Amino acid sequence: MKILKVLVVNCGSSSIKYTLFEMVSEKKVAWGVVECIGFPEALYKRQNVNIDEKKDYVKVTNHKEAIELIIENLLDKRFGSIVDINEIAVVGHRVAHGGVKFSKSVLVTEKVKEDLKEYFAIAPLHNPANYAGVLAIEKMLPGIPSVLVFDTAFHQTMPDYAYMYAIPYEYYEKDHIRRYGFHGMSHDYVSRKAAAMLETPLNKLKLVTVHLGNGSSVTAIERGKVIDTSMGFTPLQGVVMGTRCGDIDPAIIPYILSVYPRQYKNSSDALNTLMNKRSGLLGISGLSADMRTIFKAIESGNKRAKLAFEMLCYSVKKYISAYYGVLNGIEGLVFTAGIGENSPFVREKICVNLHALGIEMDLAKNNVESNEERLISSSSSKVKVMVIPTNEELMIAKESKACLCECR
Ligand code: AMP
Repeated sequence: MKILKVLVVNCGSSSIKYTLFEMVSEKKVAWGVVECIGFPEALYKRQNVNIDEKKDYVKVTNHKEAIELIIENLLDKRFGSIVDINEIAVVGHRVAHGGVKFSKSVLVTEKVKEDLKEYFAIAPLHNPANYAGVLAIEKMLPGIPSVLVFDTAFHQTMPDYAYMYAIPYEYYEKDHIRRYGFHGMSHDYVSRKAAAMLETPLNKLKLVTVHLGNGSSVTAIERGKVIDTSMGFTPLQGVVMGTRCGDIDPAIIPYILSVYPRQYKNSSDALNTLMNKRSGLLGISGLSADMRTIFKAIESGNKRAKLAFEMLCYSVKKYISAYYGVLNGIEGLVFTAGIGENSPFVREKICVNLHALGIEMDLAKNNVESNEERLISSSSSKVKVMVIPTNEELMIAKESKACLCECR
């Protein structure tokens, strides 16, 4: 089957990002984002291969209206990128949580939509928005198939002893509380790229992939299969992140509840905000969740910014070391996403003094600024350390195309 174009949509609670790919070259044709959906003014930014970014403030009250705007823009006679909706072979939807039901991408059917609703409670910010996006696309692009691609699916190969939490078993059985893991598309994408870079088949490699962005996760991958990953039931667990605390002693939560009963009592929202939005780099520095701002503050002598940076790097170092042990050695260590791709300081701080694990960085190579995938370990390093720019959108496009071809 010949697939011409794939539209990738990523619906958040108040935003929709989209990318239209041409699948022979696997290049982007058009892309953009509608932000602040449901606010008095939404911001629509869009761009295509022929036109620089345009921005407009628009009135968009819900996801359906945002999708209408995007499709109308793609079809625009002067500035659009398609002349007919049938040029789009399939729409790939990024879905945050696939629970235990979805271990791989699926073509959307009525049954799939019903199953997706089961995970609204586990991912209340994302899954309902993803669902709304599917309905809006069905309305705007009748007859064009949709595929769901899950952030959690790549991690479904974890063994039970890695994904279970040691709380009473009935919470797993009844409430599906277990580790799921996130950033699956990114870890999947960079692990395949690493295999290509190392000229070794994925099924002969043991890798640790480190996705360091606003949200961050570390994954242990053996022969292309996830063995363990740092994020858990939700994307809150694991390493220190921009605004998320990562691993903390769970007993801190009932303690905070007892110390500040008025502020937090009966308010899981306030506690979630504390851990998800007010912690991490932002919470420790008191300044910002953005690593670039943290670095500026460190330069001007800010001690809490330095502490935040050191805590983040230390937490990542611990996961890499643990997964090195879990995998009984690795051939490759991959850094990706905003911080992982762009910050030599963070990579150096994480990798320094890991010689015992055979990880030796070439500092000159590490300091080179580049958008390309590259090797940054020394020639004597047993573990090859790589920087590989992630491309989750392309991964979703390829998955959607493959899923459609499989189902037809
Ligand atoms: P992401 O979520 O992948 O978009 O990554 C966002 C994070 O990447 C933010 O903390 C940014 O500060 C960080 N980032 C982007 N560019 C750089 C850079 N040149 N140096 C350090 N951090 C960066």
